[in-house]
Amino acid sequence: MNSAVKTLLQEQLQEWDLAAGNYAALETVEVKEAMVDGYTFKVQFNPKRILSSAAKVDPKSIQERKCFLCLAHLPAVQRGIPYTAPSGNGYTILCNPFPIFKQHLTIPAAEHIDQRIAGKMGDMLALAENLTDFLLFYNGPQCGASAPDHFHFQAGNKGFLPIETATEEILANHGTEVGNGIYTLTNSPVHTIVYKSANAAAIEEWFERFFERFQQVAPSEVEPMVNILCWKSNGSFYLVVYPRKAHRPTQFFAEGDANILISPASIDLGGVFITPQEKDFAKLTGDDIKDILQQISVTPDTFNQLIL
Ligand SMILES: [Zn+2]
Repeated sequence: MNSAVKTLLQEQLQEWDLAAGNYAALETVEVKEAMVDGYTFKVQFNPKRILSSAAKVDPKSIQERKCFLCLAHLPAVQRGIPYTAPSGNGYTILCNPFPIFKQHLTIPAAEHIDQRIAGKMGDMLALAENLTDFLLFYNGPQCGASAPDHFHFQAGNKGFLPIETATEEILANHGTEVGNGIYTLTNSPVHTIVYKSANAAAIEEWFERFFERFQQVAPSEVEPMVNILCWKSNGSFYLVVYPRKAHRPTQFFAEGDANILISPASIDLGGVFITPQEKDFAKLTGDDIKDILQQISVTPDTFNQLIL
């Protein structure tokens, strides 16, 4: 499936001006690095992401716009590859026209159903099994998804996100094994759970239990806030879960110099902070990253209850 998807991406860049322009712009984005408590973060100045970072995701705004993930509303030029998960759930693999990764996919469900991860972890693992050159990610409806009303995963090429490129090093330096193959990251600015196992069914079962516990610890009318990364390397699946308590940091709403337009989701938490505005790219420091992450991550007390 990797080669079919890469062919789709190449073809879409030939025939879709919007996508071609945005992928070309990605070649020249500025990147800088910041260390936060021994963890490496990259900061990417990516003006094309303004739509996503500043997206209005309140129910009224969502209701008033046409869903951009329903097949019926896609631009005529956008084509996709249908995928049916072992669960029977259908998806379409699409080129994401507003990339962060050099190969960036959006994978919406065939049906217009709400963004809810319960019962879908098996699909995520199945996609990771098939798309071995990519890492899959999921942003919850209240913490990063620009389309909270249409279920979707995204995927990006491996070799970009620090949590994926340096997983073993990070686990060796910072990991504490709290269960068989289940690790937490010590002193990480964002509470993180990493589950490494060759057994997809075991990961799925653990996640469903974890998510039920999260709902008990921090009840939500929608779903507990999580960002999730998932990929397969050298025979093992890796699942990275970031439990959260807030959508956007105070800096997002601040006026004047204190304002930083940043709306962190899976990619930011995985180690690449996206700033759509140059003023933010220039001033963002490791201390800002730490502060932002601590604001949106669950409290230590909640986290301890989640990993019991
Ligand atoms: Zn839709």
